[in-house]
Amino acid sequence: PNIDKYPYLASLNAAQLQAVTSSPEIPLQILAGPGSGKTRVLTSRVAYLVRHHEYKPYEIVAVTFTNKASKEMKKRLQVLLGDQQADNLVLGTFHATCAKYLRRYAQLIDIPNNFVIADTEDCKKIMSTLLKARKEILEESRISLKEGVVLSEISKAKAREESPDQMAIRAAQDPSSSTSTSSIIAELYGEYEANLRESNCLDFDDLLVFGLRLFRNAPRILDSCKHILVDEFQDTNITQYELMKCFAKAHGGVSVVGDPDQSIYGWRSAEIENLNKMTRDFPGVQAIYLEENYRSTGSILSAAHAVVSQDRERIQKNLFTSHPRSTPVTLKVFSTPVIEASFIAWEIKRLIAYSGGTLNYGDFAILLRYNALSRVIESALQKDSIPNRIVGGHKFFERMEIKDLLAYLQLADNPDFTPAFVRVVNVPKRSIGDKSVSDILNAAKSMKISPMELCERIIDGEPLPNGLKAGIKKNLGTFVGAVRKLRRAAEKGSSVADLIRLVIEKTGYEEYLRTSQPDFDSRWENVQELISYSVIVSEEQARIANGAPEGGEGFMPANSAAVEAIVNKAQVEEKLKSNGKLHPLFRRQSSASDSTRSRSRSASISAPTKGKSRDIIGNGVIEILDSDEEVDVKPSARAKEDVKRNAKTEVMDGLVDELATASENMTPLAFFLQTSMLSTDTEGGEDDKDKPKVTITTVHAAKGLEWPVVFIPAVEQGTYPSYRCTEAHEMAEERRLLYVAMTRAQNFLTMSYCQFRMMGGEENDKETSEFVGMVERHQPGLLSTSLPDVDLAVRRYISMMLARPNPDEEEAKDMIMKHVRAAPPMSTWDAPEPRDKYSNRFARREVTKATRAAEYWA
Ligand code: ATP
Ligand code: MG
Repeated sequence: PNIDKYPYLASLNAAQLQAVTSSPEIPLQILAGPGSGKTRVLTSRVAYLVRHHEYKPYEIVAVTFTNKASKEMKKRLQVLLGDQQADNLVLGTFHATCAKYLRRYAQLIDIPNNFVIADTEDCKKIMSTLLKARKEILEESRISLKEGVVLSEISKAKAREESPDQMAIRAAQDPSSSTSTSSIIAELYGEYEANLRESNCLDFDDLLVFGLRLFRNAPRILDSCKHILVDEFQDTNITQYELMKCFAKAHGGVSVVGDPDQSIYGWRSAEIENLNKMTRDFPGVQAIYLEENYRSTGSILSAAHAVVSQDRERIQKNLFTSHPRSTPVTLKVFSTPVIEASFIAWEIKRLIAYSGGTLNYGDFAILLRYNALSRVIESALQKDSIPNRIVGGHKFFERMEIKDLLAYLQLADNPDFTPAFVRVVNVPKRSIGDKSVSDILNAAKSMKISPMELCERIIDGEPLPNGLKAGIKKNLGTFVGAVRKLRRAAEKGSSVADLIRLVIEKTGYEEYLRTSQPDFDSRWENVQELISYSVIVSEEQARIANGAPEGGEGFMPANSAAVEAIVNKAQVEEKLKSNGKLHPLFRRQSSASDSTRSRSRSASISAPTKGKSRDIIGNGVIEILDSDEEVDVKPSARAKEDVKRNAKTEVMDGLVDELATASENMTPLAFFLQTSMLSTDTEGGEDDKDKPKVTITTVHAAKGLEWPVVFIPAVEQGTYPSYRCTEAHEMAEERRLLYVAMTRAQNFLTMSYCQFRMMGGEENDKETSEFVGMVERHQPGLLSTSLPDVDLAVRRYISMMLARPNPDEEEAKDMIMKHVRAAPPMSTWDAPEPRDKYSNRFARREVTKATRAAEYWA
């Protein structure tokens, strides 16, 4: 129907078309597998409601799971409907949508419209005050409660619409032994709420809770909403479901799409039960099933299906594709993560070179179970100068916990390094406020000593300089003590791993992370990864000391381009800020009079990081915060040019050499700090924001997205399933997580695992993930150990290109020929040594095949 009028309907299959055009008054539920076009149907349905049913855009509410997804939906609708109409749609996450209504109507439920949205930090502050007030009671009854734990309980309560009173009743009835803890949490919940209200704040969960209250109390404000559409319905929680019901009430218009197999947010109170509830709550709901997958090749679908169907309790769904089977899914084993990571980098370059110009960096994604896994991947990509971005989080060395620990090490190495001092003097919190810090800095400046030294003198009993408050001495005690212990240990030659452990022990850093960060697990994994990294770096230093060439197994040396870029960046920033202080790494190696060197390093290290740390895992706020924020500490293009003109080449060259090689006479700590600094991101300026980049992201944040080429490293026991999971329902969610990851791939999927992986500095033997192991055992051949066949790939790309509207055969062939011929020989790609399963011999075979393919087309 109407296809002539609405050309975007032409590309839909029958089931999709039925879904898009089905009567808006009949509740619609689409349950279908990945890549079957659920999101596309939802988007088309919005357009159809506006165009065909003549709904006003503001009468339609479309809810997505992340901001990124809603941006994408909006972009698509701008094309279908035009900017103006698309702008008037109510489009966003549940949180954002509620916030919009509350801003306008909050007074109807007796809260001021100008409420402030409290972020996680604010909430923790409130809770910490409440806990302090109760300190004695808690101690008496020997209950230890942390802000994070209480807040997460409160959040869970809000997600299931439980009030403090209800929580108290439940606690009283709870037969388990921890009753007193639960009732204290219930009390804290009550006080916390009162506190938020007094200060006119709503926390993230409140946006939903108060939104719900508003819609229930004043349903008329939703009279204008004629239809609500919800994407990723399987991951809604109870409150969100109730919200949906409110929106649907006025006119009964509701369409939801979801996939039970992709439910991966159970740990954040998502209720898969909502799917069944809907059938009860909306009589006559029409269910439509989509069975054709348009995203992935047959091989990828079979492999993914083999994983998810291990779940016996799952409802079987059909999913087929008319894409060819194409190249099989690859499963590779490597000895260490570094080899695994350099393989991924190498493979990205190989596929780009052979894709005949159809692939660029933006077509690749590396999906990770944990944030901490990104360190080695980032450094492999950096080494091969492959542009990349981390979605939903920071690059490894930009993460808060890593910067904190490095700052302590920097202070131990060089007490005069002020930026490190400023960063950690009050981390973990020691009641040294900003004012006190600036007092210390000023006093130190006037005394012409470093602030660290001033603090040490204060602790050693020297009189306080004017302006400093007496109380400060007490607060500085642990800080100075920790730095001194650290310095002494470093002088005695402790390993860096031990130094990091010492920082953690002496400052109570673990406890600090646990109580202050909602995503403790993820951050703690990063800390463990830093320890592992330090072990690897020290092994490398030992190797070099024994005369071995740089780049041992397990170690990823920075390439010279990276070093150069750091120097560039440093010089640019130095020019921009023209503030400079000798960086500790250079004091030892260069004379203080060589100002170019010293200033450049200092600037690179003190460069500010934009934005707050928002790792995606465990952070309940991604729905309303931007999840694809990138962190750049990059010079502008113009500034870079400037440097190129002015830089004295000889100095630069010398510096690059020095940075890259100076290692012999360095202490382990100095060597480690230098290596870490060289591992920070060194990509170009802001001008390349839109340049295609390889995406590194967690699986959780990859939901709903797709890429032609996907890598899933670390498919090991302990990762899939996570070592954190033990219970059966958790295991099932882990399996679905791997399923979600695999089904992001369109053309090529490469999974890999390592025989050894270090955690917290200890080498562990690893086994392949049981989910994948099952596939290997029961369906041998489904997973291949060889790399994607370039020959087949090239042909597939050609057919893809020819399938496009208005194909230009000649052009397509030309392009492919050109690229295949121009592909660089394997050796220049720095493939790792052939000690692994894939080898240069294999690479040569691939080249031959590709050349043959080219000849075939010629
Ligand atoms: P997920 O469960 O992963 O969110 P999904 O069901 O929402 O997947 P979409 O993202 O909507 O799937 O679609 C997957 C891909 O298939 C997209 O690239 C989409 O453009 C394409 N697609 C969907 N339907 C069709 C169709 N009828 N013809 C061609 N391509 C289609
Ligand atoms: Mg989708």
